[in-house]
Amino acid sequence: MTEQATARQAVLLITGGGRGIGAATARLAAQRGYAVAVNYTHNAVTAEQLATEITASGGKAIAVQADVADEAQVLCLFATVDAQLGPLTALVNNAGVVDMACRVDAMSVARLRRMFDVNVVGSFLCAREAVKRMSKATGAINFGVGYGQGGGIVNLSSAAARLGSPGQYVDYAAAKGAIDSFTVGLAKEVAAEGIRVNAVRPGLIETDIHASGGLPHRVAELAAMVPLQRGGSAEEVAQAILWLLSADASYTTATVLDVTGGR
Ligand code: NAP
Repeated sequence: MTEQATARQAVLLITGGGRGIGAATARLAAQRGYAVAVNYTHNAVTAEQLATEITASGGKAIAVQADVADEAQVLCLFATVDAQLGPLTALVNNAGVVDMACRVDAMSVARLRRMFDVNVVGSFLCAREAVKRMSKATGAINFGVGYGQGGGIVNLSSAAARLGSPGQYVDYAAAKGAIDSFTVGLAKEVAAEGIRVNAVRPGLIETDIHASGGLPHRVAELAAMVPLQRGGSAEEVAQAILWLLSADASYTTATVLDVTGGR
């Protein structure tokens, strides 16, 4: 157990935690002593298996279904975490989607709305609910004993925010650019209330997200362009996320940390 998990167990909610970067983060968080809420939207089996795996290893975890783009479902998600794990101390806004590679002049409004609803609005809604619970100014007043102790939020951005992703998904890149601005603004808004807000900007990471954009071999195809000459692993991103949440990063807020192999 770390210092984070001493008196009252630290509670971490990770959106889209059933697979990929989210699952690696959930596993590492459990090893570091967090009780973990693993949110998913479609893949109940992988999320439930992960929660079972963490529990079997002596940790505490629950799997909770919710579409982060749906406000009512986000409210239910946070109410479930309140009821089953107690006061939230850490949020990782990890749920994210890409779409099939195409140019901007071929993008439908339905695609654009989904891209921004899941990647941006979902992150805002979850951060809003987390801040209400964590804020030293209002948390205890709003939610009762144990709340209002401060906390940490890490948003998943992407190197795409810098690169623009031309010909693939400029919409995704723009959504992640919004996450960078959101991170800096929210961090400054809540810093005096005991909440640190940072983002991690992964580069090419080996997960299923590339196949969901119709480019299953994307990491292998682009690896030579990475200064470190390879794609990254979900575990390498998880290490950065957990560092930003930890007391070791106590003077770090409003920061966007590249985990890109130098790209
Ligand atoms: P992934 O393997 O495709 O997993 C995405 C996760 O998000 C899944 O758990 C999925 O849940 C969840 N999700 C999708 N839509 C959701 C919604 N509306 N509500 C709740 N959960 C939802 O992706 P990943 O590669 O691990 O990416 C994680 C984050 O890192 C994303 O924000 C992504 O943009 C970012 N990122 C990834 C890379 C990369 O190269 N992999 C690079 C830069 C940034 P289900 O399992 O239920 O579908």
